[in-house]
Amino acid sequence: MTSPTAFCVLINDLIKELKESKIGVKIGDLVISVLAYADDIVLLADTPENLQKLIDIVQCWCKKWRLIINPSKSKVVHFRNPPKQRTDYIFKLCQDGPILETVDVYKYLGLFMDEYLTYSKATEILSSAAGRALGGMINKYKHLKEMSYNTYSKLYDALVCSVMDYSSAIWGVKNYDCMENVHKRAIRFFVGVHRLSPTPGYTGDMGWDSNKTRWKVNTIRLWNRLMDTDNERLVKKVLLHDIEAHSLNNKSNFSAQIKQICCEVGLKTCFTNTTKIDLSTVREKLVDKFAQDWFNSTQNMNKLDIYRSIKKDFGVEKYLELNLSKYEKSLLSQLRYGVLPLRIETGRFVNESREDRICCLCDSNCIEDQLHFVFHCPLYDIHRNELYENVINIITEWNDLSDCEKLSILFTKFPRKLAKYVKNSYLLRRKTIFK
Ligand SMILES: [Zn+2]
Repeated sequence: MTSPTAFCVLINDLIKELKESKIGVKIGDLVISVLAYADDIVLLADTPENLQKLIDIVQCWCKKWRLIINPSKSKVVHFRNPPKQRTDYIFKLCQDGPILETVDVYKYLGLFMDEYLTYSKATEILSSAAGRALGGMINKYKHLKEMSYNTYSKLYDALVCSVMDYSSAIWGVKNYDCMENVHKRAIRFFVGVHRLSPTPGYTGDMGWDSNKTRWKVNTIRLWNRLMDTDNERLVKKVLLHDIEAHSLNNKSNFSAQIKQICCEVGLKTCFTNTTKIDLSTVREKLVDKFAQDWFNSTQNMNKLDIYRSIKKDFGVEKYLELNLSKYEKSLLSQLRYGVLPLRIETGRFVNESREDRICCLCDSNCIEDQLHFVFHCPLYDIHRNELYENVINIITEWNDLSDCEKLSILFTKFPRKLAKYVKNSYLLRRKTIFK
């Protein structure tokens, strides 16, 4: 068999024969016995015996046309709910022929489908592929030394998300740690902080859409495509049946996922009326909701006490959009998330009580936290004077502001000057300590 066209013509007979057997999975009035895509055939049946009958029909047809099925590439999956045992039926290509192996997961059209349809294998494999893509992207970044926020975001979208989001419309409403780790690693690398830094800090400053936001938008995109699909098409019939099953028995199926997203964005009527949904509205609402969850998550973290008072809204921070050096960017991030190795942070590692984390670089007897480092420690006066030039002239009320207000202004209006101050002062601090 060399010509794909000839194969398509031929295979039509087989499909017809399989359908005429009336064996298959019943969905409403439909009986689905076969799915065919190019030279790929999936047989569906409700019992092992029936599946064997379908296999026999295929085998008979192959014999007639002198085709050979590759038994190593053909597998059986028993889809079922968890407590149920897997069938011990032995499937055979023909009576004395090779046994068809029953497996717990099978890759169909690029998607790994496991026997309980949890998609854990699928997401695990996608996340490791996405992780490799991210590794390549990071290498490129290291090679280039500098990369702008926009370029990095676009590359992440094109190289990593495209892998991570494959078929996410099908599996994308749950939490998958493996995927989350790729997303967080990408952000941490750009802002320049280690893995123990508080997550809401760096995700809030980067302002990227969360994985779940993207996946939910993809799910609604698929819904819209299905709404445009003719009602006579198999995939649409299955969807309509799925919707009905959900409305009758409250089944937690694909439609339930769609409904959940619609409710989340306040557009439940689009689900009940089976109409298309405006994607940008969906994204906007999901982003708003995520921003609210993000805000709540910042509230109870000790390390983020200063961050909380200078960062109110989810979204990209100015200092990340400037082309600061990697080192400066990293120092500013560490300062924001409370992980710059000042004594307030290093004291945590040795279980020092908060009051004992005193600055050893001056005699002020103050706790060495971020605010002491930026505004009060006399060791850095020389750099501070440089920082204050201009700033005091432009911000006339400067002396009446609280330290947190000042820090907030430095980050939003004078990020370059702040970066220079933090870098010079931090280097001076190290030099003084390790003298
Ligand atoms: Zn000090």
